[in-house]
Amino acid sequence: MRKPNLIGKLRAGLPAPIRSLFDQLIKLADSRGLPVYLVGGPLRDLLLDRPSLDLDIAVEGDAPTLARQLAESLSREDKAGSAHPEALVGRAGTTSEPRVVTHPAFLTATVRVPGFHLDLITARSETYARPGALPTVTPETIEDDLRRRDFTINALALRLNSPWRVEILDPAGGRADLEARLIRALHKRSFQDDATRILRAVQYASRFGFNVEPQTLRWLKRDLRYLRTISGTRLHHEFSRIFAESAPEEILHRLHDLGALAAIDPTLRFDPPQADAFTRLRPDGWRSGRQLNTTGARASYWPVLAWNLNEPQALDVSRRLAATKPQRKALAAMPALQRLAPNLAGPSLKRSAVAEPLASFPLPALWAFSALTDDPTVRERLLDYLTKARLERPHLTGDDLLALGLPSGPQLGEILRRLRNARLDGEATSREDEEHLARQNDAEGRDCGDVWVNEQFLALEFACFTCLRGETADPTGEPPVGRGH
Ligand code: ATP
Repeated sequence: MRKPNLIGKLRAGLPAPIRSLFDQLIKLADSRGLPVYLVGGPLRDLLLDRPSLDLDIAVEGDAPTLARQLAESLSREDKAGSAHPEALVGRAGTTSEPRVVTHPAFLTATVRVPGFHLDLITARSETYARPGALPTVTPETIEDDLRRRDFTINALALRLNSPWRVEILDPAGGRADLEARLIRALHKRSFQDDATRILRAVQYASRFGFNVEPQTLRWLKRDLRYLRTISGTRLHHEFSRIFAESAPEEILHRLHDLGALAAIDPTLRFDPPQADAFTRLRPDGWRSGRQLNTTGARASYWPVLAWNLNEPQALDVSRRLAATKPQRKALAAMPALQRLAPNLAGPSLKRSAVAEPLASFPLPALWAFSALTDDPTVRERLLDYLTKARLERPHLTGDDLLALGLPSGPQLGEILRRLRNARLDGEATSREDEEHLARQNDAEGRDCGDVWVNEQFLALEFACFTCLRGETADPTGEPPVGRGH
């Protein structure tokens, strides 16, 4: 018979497809005589009455094998038409084979069906060959598994199948710490074994509004230097987790104050303007109509880390955090944007004069910069570019220009660029204006002899275009003769 209270509460909180998968897993584990437990975060969240979509299940036995058997039994029942209808139906309502991804070195597996996944781990002990190394994993009992965990509040297990023992295994006093709202490490070398726990301690403290228990805090401060032993990939993972929190700036601010960011990289900082920028970047941060979605906000947090850094420092930070290529580009763009900013502040700048230089910058860097700059004019211009100007296109397309009788070739792109700029600057507001402007540009381009098709087109077009406007391109003031005219 099931223990009704916590398991019932757990099941009731699961979306139907996950509940069904969960039930199948328990049935299968029962039939194999394998003890299974709900462990770590989902149990902690259950006790805190916080919703959790993850399912972390520990099995005293081989998790990858159990995961494969679960996938097989689901797809067998599906083919026979006897699977619970929700078991294989993902968010899109499509039925498909469950996919099992196993990680044999860590004795773990993930069962994925469209829309969600369930993590299965083999209850194990972990030993560290040296600080910061990935652990060596050996299958053990659930009690050993709980002893290897980061904090007491995560060192909890709920038995999910018979024979029942106690309702919750809690060897480290995690439930008392949940009550007392404390983040407590399990032993004095915890942060030396794995200094990512320094980041995790601050993250959990912020997420739950808990305190880091005083002795744990002393160990944490003592062992900050062990952050040097952590690989970029693992740091990247922890930073991504932090960026997924509802208030990542609180965590980074605290990590900065503790000296943890400097221990990761001496140039890595998190100052109040960066914290303010994080809040502005969130979906509820800007005034209406100027919000980023969650994905956009998270992408834009990365370049905020490069605020006030020069190029080599930004590069060092992105290397240290194993930034992805787009993230690296966004971080690297920040010093260049900082140099460009004074040019964006000038009075009566045309919109096209803002849009053109910004077009080559990654969007997350532009968002980050708009949230960071303390110059209201620069901010407004960046936001205008990001939310409007960037998306504006001329009425006419390349096909329309051809239909007007303009010859195909590189000049078409150039005319389209000018049409777009004219639109941005309010110099062409209708289709007719654009047709007129396109014909005029074409005619004047032809008057410029073979300039349009000249190999040195790019170098020469400026002279040609300025002559259209009666301006001189040459700083000497001489008319641009001898350049195709
Ligand atoms: P979430 O942040 O989504 O609530 P979580 O708290 O479950 O997730 P995960 O990062 O998903 O945390 O890790 C799952 C469990 O694995 C944790 O609850 C913790 O018990 C354990 N764990 C994760 N990282 C470490 C670590 N560095 N050292 C020890 N245990 C860890």
